Amino acid sequence: MTKRRDLLKGLIALPLIGTTTANAAMARDSSKDFERDFFKELGLRTFINAAGTYTALTASLPHPEVIKAINYAALQFVSLVDLQEKVGERIAELLKCEASMVSAGAASAITLGTAAVVTGGDAEKARRIPTDMTGMKTEVIMQKSHRIGYAHAISNCGVKIIEVETRKQLEAAISEKTAMMWFLNYNNTVGEVKAEEFVAIGKKYGVPTFNDCAADVPPVENLWKYTQMGFDLVCFSGGKGLRGPQSAGLLLGRKELINAARKNAPPYGDTVGRGMKVNKEEILGMLVALEIYLAKDHQEEWTMWEKQIKLINDTTAAVPGVKPEIHVPPVANHVPSIRIRWDAAKVKITPEEVRNALRNGHPSIETMGDDTSVDITTWMMIPGEERIVAKRLKEILQEAST
Ligand SMILES: *Cc1c(COP(=O)(O)O)cnc(C)c1O
Repeated sequence: MTKRRDLLKGLIALPLIGTTTANAAMARDSSKDFERDFFKELGLRTFINAAGTYTALTASLPHPEVIKAINYAALQFVSLVDLQEKVGERIAELLKCEASMVSAGAASAITLGTAAVVTGGDAEKARRIPTDMTGMKTEVIMQKSHRIGYAHAISNCGVKIIEVETRKQLEAAISEKTAMMWFLNYNNTVGEVKAEEFVAIGKKYGVPTFNDCAADVPPVENLWKYTQMGFDLVCFSGGKGLRGPQSAGLLLGRKELINAARKNAPPYGDTVGRGMKVNKEEILGMLVALEIYLAKDHQEEWTMWEKQIKLINDTTAAVPGVKPEIHVPPVANHVPSIRIRWDAAKVKITPEEVRNALRNGHPSIETMGDDTSVDITTWMMIPGEERIVAKRLKEILQEAST
């Protein structure tokens, strides 16, 4: 008994403190319970994430309940196909869509969605992409302004990207070669053809439409808005606002397409998606993360973020010449955010120097920004860390003041 408990202690190194109201603070604090400090052993720096859900910064910390689900799944075998099936059904029910699957991130969902429309789930075709596209549709259309660097996930399937700028060009580009029309949700306002119209054109010509909503929660209702709008496929990152496993994502949409997508992913070996494995821990972790996300009080969380941002605003604004500006990006990373700028004549330090000073301090703090500003969000912070960030910022800016 004791032995088993010791074994479990090693494997499930978190205290059983999680409830649906628990927050990320517990996830971080619980690292104290580990006997080994692995990152320290490796000479790695950990930091306060004042930047947001960036892949390079490992994006988000999962809720303690998600970590419990991951540990639960890690200790027993289950059929991968059956698990994907059952979790897919459950997620589809939660998100009010026909079908779903857990992918290896949103980028993987884009590849698998493309593979689905191109192969229709046919095993022989799945074996041939991307090198032999005989008998398959080979073009994916998108608006030029929507091509921001994730298109590689589409081209992986052996298709060509066709860029268009106007509705007229879009309709003219549709042919018997068109496999799919792809949309980048956060550039909805930038492209000439908006989401609803895009869907309508897809339906008019019988071309499947895909909406990349990777970073577009909050708001929570986006999780069903776009499938209900009529997009045939929609994807989300699992490890951004949803705070699921960082290497997981969601592909949502029509049942036949989700079934076809699954045929292009593990356990099926000779496929374009074979390298995008999602195992039981992440599949289950993704489901639990979603359950927690849907159940939480989003208003309460938003109010907390606003207070945190206001604290950073008021603390830095107290330094003469510093002009912080609170804003909320309309789509993607749609959370209270702050952009800190200052009068260079009064505060003699560049934004890059401030970011470096924050990074090199103790505790280390990661922020975003460019030549003109230091940009901060608090949604990936552990509550309370905003006070450390505000204080450090003020010190650095004050020190550079004349
Ligand atoms: C982050 C992001 C992706 C990639 O998501 P992963 O989950 O990291 O694979 C794709 N598209 C957009 C618009 C994103 O913001």
